[in-house]
Amino acid sequence: MGISKDIINRIRKSNCTTDETFFQAVEEVLDSIQPVLESDSKYSKNSIVDRLTNPDREFKFKVVWLDDNQNIQVNTGYRVQFNNALGPYKGGLRFHPSVNSGILKFLGFEQILKNSLTGLPIGGGKGGSDFDPKGKSDFEIMKFCSAFMTELHKYIGPRIDVPAGDIGVGAREIGYLFGEYKKITSSYDGILTGKPFMFGGSLMRPEATGYGCVYFTDEMLKYGGKNDFKGRICTVSGAGNVAIHTIEKLYDLGAIPVTCTDSRGTIYDSRGIDLKLLKELKLKKRVSLEEYCKDHNDAIYTKVEDYSDGGHEVWNIPCDCAFPCATQNELTQIDAKNLIENGCISVTEGANMPSTPEATKLFLENDILFAPAKAANAGGVVVSEFEMSQNASMTKWSYEKVDNMLDQNMRAICKRVHLTAEEYGVAGNYVDGANIVGFKKVADAMIAEGI
Ligand code: NDP
Repeated sequence: MGISKDIINRIRKSNCTTDETFFQAVEEVLDSIQPVLESDSKYSKNSIVDRLTNPDREFKFKVVWLDDNQNIQVNTGYRVQFNNALGPYKGGLRFHPSVNSGILKFLGFEQILKNSLTGLPIGGGKGGSDFDPKGKSDFEIMKFCSAFMTELHKYIGPRIDVPAGDIGVGAREIGYLFGEYKKITSSYDGILTGKPFMFGGSLMRPEATGYGCVYFTDEMLKYGGKNDFKGRICTVSGAGNVAIHTIEKLYDLGAIPVTCTDSRGTIYDSRGIDLKLLKELKLKKRVSLEEYCKDHNDAIYTKVEDYSDGGHEVWNIPCDCAFPCATQNELTQIDAKNLIENGCISVTEGANMPSTPEATKLFLENDILFAPAKAANAGGVVVSEFEMSQNASMTKWSYEKVDNMLDQNMRAICKRVHLTAEEYGVAGNYVDGANIVGFKKVADAMIAEGI
């Protein structure tokens, strides 16, 4: 299905960004929703595509903070409030040197459709900074978070915009950000999700994205006639929040996750990843995965510079199910080819848009069960919305309640996507299914709300 060049050129012109990831995300969605646009003229009459691909507003601000050597440091902070047709802007904050307004627009745009897909009352946004948390002391992280919130607090609110974590932003950073917001405003508002449990966080929020990916895949395997996870070899990339909890839930459901990666290299442990050690290295000590081999000298560590055929080491390891859970465009055409040749049956995107368009195309052409990010990794935002509900009603839900509701929500999203793909004549194509479900709900709300 080809999309009109005119539409994409118009969107390129009206968006002041050079970041190709944003256009990549938009093109994929436009391709999927073409039959919807063609079947009902209300979307073009209401200029929905142009309105949906331009954020409501974007903030860019200076973040000045003092490092441990008393040097003044300057970073850039951003918040993109993309669309609030369905509820308050909602989406994570990313702290990583690669952050710029284009990357945040890609993430914010994806977030609109993801949040719509959940069926919950949340809009789409994203934010962050080019600040690099690596190698910073705890005190420096706190100083930076305080300085960041000094500006961000002007734009957020429990009914306006509720950020959460993403790459480089976990419970520690959310805690410091929340503390600063409270100091500035004297208000105990649920303006962030992913808070530690002791001050308003939801149980299961840290686990939610990874667990949700596995629940979604379990359901997708059943639809695809592949039974369940028992005994299946799984490869996982990443070694952060999403990857760790994906590995944890895979073990719970009887699978054998054998890999993890970080920005410096890949660990392959054929007997199954030692989860306790992985948590120790990445969540407590925050060190390189190379350290893993000190405890397991039969595991294989491959440095990024030693990856062999132009692909990523982790996707060259034979597996039944693959879970890219690190970052965007980490799984390329050559990686997809390696996975397919090695007999992989499913690929689940834990990270946001980890597969390149060429890789996605290969998966779909080869009937691989492919779960796109906006459906598969929605578990994080689902439990974030549960956190907002708990904060609003001043209640705390049990672990079992949140886990059951997450499980049910992920399986319901999978069903919705599966049935929609069938309805539009693309059975098994979860990319089109997810884009169509997400688009229709938000587009119909925009039309109903007028201009
Ligand atoms: P973390 O910061 O906890 O972990 C990120 C992991 O990916 C780390 O292991 C990091 O390596 C690695 N990584 C980051 N950037 C790169 C890169 N450029 N190349 C190679 N490896 C890289 O982040 P999360 O686990 O929270 O997020 C991972 C992905 O999941 C992101 O795409 C995020 O947008 C998405 N996501 C996260 C959600 C959440 O709830 N946290 C919700 C939905 C989506 P190193 O340790 O060396 O830094």
